[in-house]
Amino acid sequence: MKKLNTPVVHHLALSAVMLAALTACGGGDSGGGASFGGAGMGALSSLTASAEDPAKAPEDGAPSSQESSLAAIDRSVKPMELPDTVWPINYKLWFRPDAALKTFVGRGDVEIEVLKPVDAIVVAAHNLKFANGRTTLRKLSNPSEVIALVPTPQTLGDFVQLRRNDGQIAKGKYLLHMEWDGKIQFSDAEYCPPEEMARNPFCSAATGVFKVGLSTPEGVSSDAIVTQGETNYARQWFPGWDEPAFRHSFEISAEVPGDWQTVSNAAQKSAVKLPDGYQQVSFEKTPSMPMYLAFFGGGKFDVLSDTFKSPLDGSEMPLRWFTPPGRSTWATFAMEWTKVAMDYYYNYTGIALPFKKFDTVAANDSYDNKPNTGFGGMENWGSIFEFADRVLTKPGDTPTLYSVTVVTHEIAHQWFGDLVTLDWWDNVWLNESFARWFDRRTTIKFHPDYYSFSDYVLDKHTVIVADLKDTAVPVQRNLNDAGSFGFISPSIFVYNKGSHVLETVQNYIGEEAMQKGLQIYLKDYAFGNATPSRLWTSLEKASGGKKVADIGDSFIRQTGVPLLTVDAQCAGDRTYVSISQEPFPNQNAYPASTWTIPVTLAYGDAMEQRKTFVMATSTTQLELPGCTAVLAGPTGQDYYVSNYSTQSWSDLLAKAQNFADNKPLLLNIERDAFRLLSAGRVTQGQYDQIKGVLNLPTTLLAKTEASQQKMMAQDAGGKEDYPHALRYQGSLKLRENHKR
Ligand SMILES: [Zn+2]
Repeated sequence: MKKLNTPVVHHLALSAVMLAALTACGGGDSGGGASFGGAGMGALSSLTASAEDPAKAPEDGAPSSQESSLAAIDRSVKPMELPDTVWPINYKLWFRPDAALKTFVGRGDVEIEVLKPVDAIVVAAHNLKFANGRTTLRKLSNPSEVIALVPTPQTLGDFVQLRRNDGQIAKGKYLLHMEWDGKIQFSDAEYCPPEEMARNPFCSAATGVFKVGLSTPEGVSSDAIVTQGETNYARQWFPGWDEPAFRHSFEISAEVPGDWQTVSNAAQKSAVKLPDGYQQVSFEKTPSMPMYLAFFGGGKFDVLSDTFKSPLDGSEMPLRWFTPPGRSTWATFAMEWTKVAMDYYYNYTGIALPFKKFDTVAANDSYDNKPNTGFGGMENWGSIFEFADRVLTKPGDTPTLYSVTVVTHEIAHQWFGDLVTLDWWDNVWLNESFARWFDRRTTIKFHPDYYSFSDYVLDKHTVIVADLKDTAVPVQRNLNDAGSFGFISPSIFVYNKGSHVLETVQNYIGEEAMQKGLQIYLKDYAFGNATPSRLWTSLEKASGGKKVADIGDSFIRQTGVPLLTVDAQCAGDRTYVSISQEPFPNQNAYPASTWTIPVTLAYGDAMEQRKTFVMATSTTQLELPGCTAVLAGPTGQDYYVSNYSTQSWSDLLAKAQNFADNKPLLLNIERDAFRLLSAGRVTQGQYDQIKGVLNLPTTLLAKTEASQQKMMAQDAGGKEDYPHALRYQGSLKLRENHKR
């Protein structure tokens, strides 16, 4: 999702609004025999048909009907907090809000598999009240025998044990029936009391099932409900297994007022009028997916419709933007951009989305009782949610940068997060860094007037400043010290540093290998879970065995920024280059000492030659032909700072005219020099000379100075905190410190 970070101002170099958009998202896998949408299934159909029980833990043995070509691939991961003994297969969910939209009643009929005898089935539930005497279990092989279960809240956390009156629950497949009532959230004031806000400044009532007020341009309001599941808020909607390790299909239905438009992950199957003026709406079975991506929206929406034609097979899929009444034309730009972005992602991934339709729900909230909304958009699979006031554009107005980036960000998640989902929340960067990387790249490609590679350089340097402070944390956290759910903080590291690391990796292996590697990753782990090693392995496969894992891990698992110092000396007709690496001077609590860095050098008469190598030691030497100046990092995008010996700076600056057209590079050299000045590694005189020679265009200079002011303000602000926004509601198990 795109997460809002109102309590702490991290800023992207461009605008606060842009940083206002941090998010996290999820994924899905395919339940056996699930009826996926008919459209766009070509690329995935063989995978979905073969991944019968993809969520099973490894010790359960291989899924029964795997195709032989896929048999070696394990898409599953183990759950972290819930037991791995009971696995959901298909969840039939029904719910009905009350007329005042304050509460709702719900029912679930869940096909489950109990893998070994257990004392209890454990489900996650928060603010839900189980109906007395209504929880039952039936063996699929003997459905006439009804086993009564007693819901028993655990003393610690949000988990409810469903127990028999006596005895264990035997191994086998069952249908679990549950009934409950729950609360429709409305205001931050009620949901987030002061003590909660003190603990979690990102607390927001926009969780579980919540009410908003859709408003027309004339200011007429009407009630609507929407849901928000990430990270562990779906458990406020229905009891279940809300860890990303549990992927299963859903069949969602609801009873809502008869004049509502409704939307969910899968296509609507039916709408039946009820005698009391309500309607029963039912949606098709979803692909297998994690619970946090389940979505329902209902209200007096207007709908802007269009069609997306797949570039893969020419098939057509309905596209819809649900807007507040009277505002459907406000989604015109967003709809066009949706089509462009979808086309890009279909082409890039080679994989069609497994849905018959694709929706975005844009709701506003005239009640304004959730000022601390906590997120800007959410990548629910097949049905993205956005806050209308940020993403819709009044006819005649110019779309904002935020509205441009949030649309492509959430669409990127449909593959990176939804099709392949993080294994656990400490790896939320596997969702967010990709969505950020793609929202930058697609905006640069299709809306360069909004965002450029120069802006990307400035963003990188904003991350670098944050990464040198004592509050810096690794992109991939170790949850042993942090807890469990709710781990998504609007961290500049999870979203932005990760995207710069991906850019660095791509600069090393090349765009073609990057795309091919990501296609392998998406195909191999479709409807399954991502881990860093699964990602690195896929990229290594596509790049002929380049050491992506060593590089990636050294940047993802450590704080700080490498500082390269280059000294190039000419002797005869050769240039002898010495390069050293050290941590850029920092206040990191646990500073890194060495990185595995992919280094590209530019050299030659016109600086047109390239030499790329991996540096894993503190110093290295190499030779280049001819007498030449040397530049490290010719794209300007790699995640390190470059310094040079005095002579090498002079030689490099003498060649500056050769990259006068490469504005991102010019900017990066200037920004590196500025950071070196701030660390006392170059003198003011040297910096002035560098800046003078680079002769940055006025527009870039203005951006640089604005960026500089922000960084100085950030530095002057002292300790800047990146809170965990931890909503620890489970019985924490210290995780095994194994490499996943
Ligand atoms: Zn996101």
